[in-house]
Amino acid sequence: MNWKEFCKHLDQENVKIEELKQLAERDFNKYGIYPGSINKYGESWLFIARDCCSKSLVVYGKNEYFEQFDGTEETINGKHVKICGLNDDNCSIIMKMFPYTKPVNHRGKKITMGLGDRLGLASPGHLRLIKDMPVFPVLAQQSIRELNLTGRNYRNVLSAAAWAVYQEGYTSGFGADGDHLKTPEEIKMALDNGFTMITLDCSEHIDNKAASYSQEEVNEKYMSIDEQERARLENAYLGKTFKLYDGTEITFNEDNFRRMVLVYIDAIKYTINIYNSLLKSCGRNIDFEMSIDETLTPTSPESHYFVASELIKGGVEITSLAPRFCGEFQKGIDYIGDISTFEKEFIMHVKIAKTLGYKISVHSGSDKFKVFPIVGKVTEGEYHLKTAGTNWLEAVRIIAARNPALYRRMHKFALENLEEAKKYYHISADPSNIPDIDSLADSELPALMDKDDSRQVLHITYGLILKAKNQDGTYTFKDEIYSTLHKYEQDYYNSLINHIGKHLSGLGIK
Ligand code: ZN
Repeated sequence: MNWKEFCKHLDQENVKIEELKQLAERDFNKYGIYPGSINKYGESWLFIARDCCSKSLVVYGKNEYFEQFDGTEETINGKHVKICGLNDDNCSIIMKMFPYTKPVNHRGKKITMGLGDRLGLASPGHLRLIKDMPVFPVLAQQSIRELNLTGRNYRNVLSAAAWAVYQEGYTSGFGADGDHLKTPEEIKMALDNGFTMITLDCSEHIDNKAASYSQEEVNEKYMSIDEQERARLENAYLGKTFKLYDGTEITFNEDNFRRMVLVYIDAIKYTINIYNSLLKSCGRNIDFEMSIDETLTPTSPESHYFVASELIKGGVEITSLAPRFCGEFQKGIDYIGDISTFEKEFIMHVKIAKTLGYKISVHSGSDKFKVFPIVGKVTEGEYHLKTAGTNWLEAVRIIAARNPALYRRMHKFALENLEEAKKYYHISADPSNIPDIDSLADSELPALMDKDDSRQVLHITYGLILKAKNQDGTYTFKDEIYSTLHKYEQDYYNSLINHIGKHLSGLGIK
């Protein structure tokens, strides 16, 4: 593969960019140039090219940013050329030159989707899938847990997404979600790095114990809330009925009110404080998602209504809210639970959200094929849905198919370290259901990514796999995972297009 041979075409007089893109696409195997990445800037050309082992940004001819790029200089056809790594600093320059590579907020967009990319390699596949679909992609989406487990930071995560956007020439906008953030420091870090969405996880301020207090305890604790605050809440809710947009009623009575206040009051105060002190003042429009999905019991319609309306009164503009649904949304596998109960409860949550002016967000939305048709239909195509781990599993599928020896080592390591990984993630996988890998032929390995038990085991051990080191300090798997996925880049994109494509068709998106 040689992009240098392509350069003569750039020097043709009056050459049209569309023709160059067509040529790069037709002869991708010859030049290794991503068609969507070809851009003219002043008198210079820019594009991304791949070779055996990596990708580079090529700046062909000088422009006002030329000296700022970090890379090696060469002369080709008498032109100054810089060959630059796809690193964070070079990405910051690209964001200045091509503003569509910067993330933007998405309030007002109907279908928005979190497409977390733990390796930083999946986004081009996602973009190829959704480019002509009515889906706004939130390409960068990581929780602090994921950052820690993958050894990345928010700048890396955003750069990977922005490079993907540049590579594919995707100009319709994308988002960046600091997912499940808990503290002011975490939120500040995400905002300082240009993230456009904050998902606040206030689980540490939700009093889950209140759900099981005796009525006596409830009354006692309730009385310890400031008197004026109690009076305000009682005036606003107690004995009142609220009509949703379609006439459905939500009522608050003595039985449920005090307990509900105890569960959520601290979380509400915390959220209003965070929103007003950090998000409102940051100088950009931020999509704010309230997540109350980390409770022990499903969110009742009354609780949902109460939390959201208190936040709105406190000045919070909610873009989306994630309730805790009935049943289980486990990692990497389909929904577990009674689907008709889910539908009934989901309808109520959507009605409340529509009435109060935001969207429902579905977390751990990877592979929930049973619930997708309900989500698509009930919301009438307005929702946020988060996926992440399934994109890693598709990478594992490619490794199993293309580098079986590496997969076998990862598989054994995952099983050996399963107990450690279970500290971070709850799963129901039973390793004894997974066939002994030594008894399987190479050709049988990819099918392990179609079975729940092996999916979950490889799903939750990603951090341990990526971080494992040999005695000499080299990575046990990480470098080989990246080089395999670089070599079989197109296979990875195709498998994401196929697998996330099934999600979209389940949701009814065409
Ligand atoms: Zn969540």
